[in-house]
Parts: sequence; C-alpha cells; structure tokens
Amino acid sequence: SDVPLYLSGDKAGLREFLGKFDVFLFDCDGVLWSGDHCFPGTVETLELLRNNGKQVVFVTNNSTKSRADYCKKLEGLGIPSTVEEVFSSSYSSSIYISRILQLPANKRKVYVIGETGIEQELRSENVPFIGGTDPAYRRDVKPEDYKLIAAGDESILDPEVGVVLVGLDFHLNYLKLALAYHYVKRGAVFLATNIDSTLPNSGTLFPGAGSMSAPLIMMLGQEPTALGKPAQAMMDAIEGKFKFDRSRACMVGDRANTDIRFGREGKLGGTLGVLTGVSSKEDFESGPVRPHAYLDKLSDLLGSDL
Ligand code: PLP
Ligand code: CA
Repeated sequence: SDVPLYLSGDKAGLREFLGKFDVFLFDCDGVLWSGDHCFPGTVETLELLRNNGKQVVFVTNNSTKSRADYCKKLEGLGIPSTVEEVFSSSYSSSIYISRILQLPANKRKVYVIGETGIEQELRSENVPFIGGTDPAYRRDVKPEDYKLIAAGDESILDPEVGVVLVGLDFHLNYLKLALAYHYVKRGAVFLATNIDSTLPNSGTLFPGAGSMSAPLIMMLGQEPTALGKPAQAMMDAIEGKFKFDRSRACMVGDRANTDIRFGREGKLGGTLGVLTGVSSKEDFESGPVRPHAYLDKLSDLLGSDL
C-alpha cells in the first residue's frame, strides 16, 4: 500500500481527513490510555469529535472485561460513554455464540478459558457455561483425571459442552488445556476471543490471549475462529448493531497487524495509526499493513481547530 499521510501539526490535512468520516472506531489501550494512565487530551479529543456530530465506538480486544466494566473504566478516566458504545471481544464472542452459531439444544454449553468479562457477557446473552473463573478448575491434574477423561466420564467432561471459548486467563493450567483439548476432540466448536500474541503492561509485553490458544492449536492442529480484531466477524457484528456506512468510517489504532488490518480488511474509508502504543513509525510507513494516515498521538487531532 501507499505511504501514509503524517498529519500531526497539519491543520488543513487534519480537517480534510476528519471531514471524510461520520463514525470513528477506537481501539482503547495504546490510543486513549495506557494501562491506568489516560493520555493528556483524550477527553477533549473525544469531545471535539462528538461535538462535531461524529459517532464514537470503543472497540477493544480485551476479553477480561465486560462492556459494563469498560464503561466504568472510561468513566473513571473522565470519558463519558454508554454500554451501547462499547464493543469488547468478550461481547463479540458472546453474541457470535448466541446469535450466529446454530447449536443443537443439547450442546449449548460453553467451556470457558478466561476471566469474568467473558462470563458476564455470556450471562447477558443467556448462554450457559462452565470453567472460567470457577475455582474447581484451578488445581493440578490428579492421576484419576486422566482415566476419567479417557473414559469420557460425565463427572469431568460435561456432555452438553458444544463450544470451547479461549480468552486471556490469568490461571491457565494443564487441567484447563487438557479439558479444552478433549472437548474440541469430541466435536466442540473452537473459538478464541482474540489472538493477540502479547499484551502491553507497564512498558513491556506479556502473554496475550493468542498465547492461551496457541498450546491448543499445537495439540489439535486446528485454528480457532477468532472474534476480536482483526477478525471480520467483529466488524460484521459492529455493523449489525450500528448500521453505518463503511466508506464513512475510520478505525483508529496503535497496532498495525490488528487495528489497522481490521479497518483495511473491513474496507473502511479510513484507518488512522497513533504512535502511543505497540506499532512504530517504521511499521506504519513501510510495514506490510499501513494506515491511511498516522499521528504522533491521538490528541494531535485537536490541532484541526474544528
Ligand atoms: N487483551 C487484554 C487482556 C488487555 O488487557 C488488553 C489491553 O489492555 C488488550 C487485549 C488489548 O486491548 P485493545 O484492543 O484495547 O488495545
Ligand atoms: Ca491497542
């Protein structure tokens, strides 16, 4: 693709760029804030866009939080939002399971590897689940477990499980992986909230949700259906909800291979990179996936003087 426009400090360029869009999809971490630190000017920039009639949607791959959790986080940082404006991978996974997957009546249960965000969103869609944060799964494998699993015993393998959903799990262990493997082997649909290899924290990187599904991919020789950015299942779900014109929408993100790719493959009118997260200037200017434009930081949009 072409070399992107660099718009920081370019008032006329910024005005022209912003004028092309009615909807802005925002990646969160690395764009609006980093961890618990809200970037200066985030609140004012969102206000500027809203005051100019732009619709704002928060699109995050973080599955550990529910949409309600995200609203609380946004509110705590001084950013007004509603649950309806938030799209998390926990939510896109839940609606994919409840509204897209056609599961037989006796195979409706989801075996979860993940945290409370997934559990809350599954509950809100009335999807039954096991696993997740249940302390019963936070233990070592016992010798008898192997025999029970091998025998397909219902005391350890729930026969109603028809889906395995893998998100970031801070208590991943051998038992959880062994159960997930056997559920998929027995025919369960293999889903991942997102497949980010890493996630940023405190200025460095840690294992991301993709690193939770990686051992299963290794065991199964099968890829999961992923429901976070850059998967277009997430874009389709967002469009299903907001019915926006893709040519008048812009994805804003810090990560070329998730956010920018998400917008490019979704045929959005624009993609805007920011340098406050994972990707570098070199990634944006000469990497395999390039945004239409990029900024040093999101608040440089304030320089448009709109
Ligand atoms: N997954 C987890 C668990 C996270 O904590 C984060 C960032 O906080 C992400 C994914 C990436 O989120 P985003 O898509 O908002 O950058
Ligand atoms: Ca991000």
